Amino acid sequence: MTKAYGATAADRPLEQLTIARRAPGAHDVAIAIDYCGVCHSDLHTVRGEWGGTLFPCVPGHEIVGRVTAVGEHVSDFSVGDVVGVGCMVDSCQTCAPCEAGEEQYCEAGMTPTYNGSCEEAPGHTLGGYSQDIVVNDKFVLKVTHPTEQLAAVAPLLCAGITTYSPLRHWQAGPGKKVGIVGIGGLGHVAVKLAKAMGAHVVAFTTSESKREDALRLGADEVVVSRNGDEMAAHTGSFDFILDTVAASHQLDAFTGLLKLDGTLTLVGLPDAPHPSPNIGYLIMGRRSIAGSLIGGIAETQEMLDFCAEHGITADVEMIRADGIDEAYERMKRSDVKYRFVIDIATMDA
Ligand code: NAP
Ligand code: ZN
Repeated sequence: MTKAYGATAADRPLEQLTIARRAPGAHDVAIAIDYCGVCHSDLHTVRGEWGGTLFPCVPGHEIVGRVTAVGEHVSDFSVGDVVGVGCMVDSCQTCAPCEAGEEQYCEAGMTPTYNGSCEEAPGHTLGGYSQDIVVNDKFVLKVTHPTEQLAAVAPLLCAGITTYSPLRHWQAGPGKKVGIVGIGGLGHVAVKLAKAMGAHVVAFTTSESKREDALRLGADEVVVSRNGDEMAAHTGSFDFILDTVAASHQLDAFTGLLKLDGTLTLVGLPDAPHPSPNIGYLIMGRRSIAGSLIGGIAETQEMLDFCAEHGITADVEMIRADGIDEAYERMKRSDVKYRFVIDIATMDA
């Protein structure tokens, strides 16, 4: 049996639960979890903000740990390896997106690390706020960062790939002006990634208190988006803007900053819709509004390797397992610098 932290209803605090994990099958990797990041998606899900939450709900999809057992057909991993698990634990492996390495868009529906249907009890997947997990080897990532950085690597498994994938898809790089909206868990990693890719990076924040940090994180410029004059100075100048905001807000403020053919890509998924954007802004500059979901497994490995090579990790604040509810409250107030990570060893206490 495995200790986990989860909720039994949307209006209940998280509590320590005992869950069962399957015995590793021929293609499975069993992992003792050391660290799990706290993503805003965990909060949206466990509090029922998106609807469709299955209880008991054990969130967590930013997992780093060590391999404790492997199935007989597993050749890429050995006991003792440091590994990661992100937002997916299975997919059909045969549809066109899966064949293309974009399992997140699996036509049959990928299995999310938590709140996805599965055969084992309780009938849905349970995530990384737990002491161990068993995962199909195709969904396990190799971690090569130094041991002392592993807690700060955990957030890369969601915040990292969710920002790396669109930055690559829309070709952030030298000569490109890239905006990152919302300097939270996803946004602060996005600033580091876009800078390492060679783009000119502008951070947009609603928090005056994050201005200095955004520069330290690697932004070339910072705009406090509540300040109209600061915003207007960037009108029509961006190739690409990545919006990570977790709450409903006006998109027009950002589409107006795009230049001809520029794209505003949304990764934040608020519980309430954004006000309908002004279509005139799109027509007048052939601008696009797009969306993007995490990234494929091969691309997640590429992102981890890129981050190891460039010395990129998240800025983290370690918390105990019994501090998750408090962390959610702070996350709702944008009071995170810049990702909470659960020290899973505190579940023993
Ligand atoms: P987070 O750490 O809470 O950061 C969100 C940031 O958005 C905040 O720090 C804040 O930054 C800004 N913000 C919050 N409320 C705002 C408001 N009312 N108006 C304007 N800005 C506001 O959240 P996260 O973990 O980065 O996740 C962000 C969103 O992405 C969530 O909705 C999450 O579910 C979603 N997500 C999507 C994917 C995907 O595959 N598409 C993957 C993971 C997460 P400032 O203080 O700088 O303004
Ligand atoms: Zn996430």
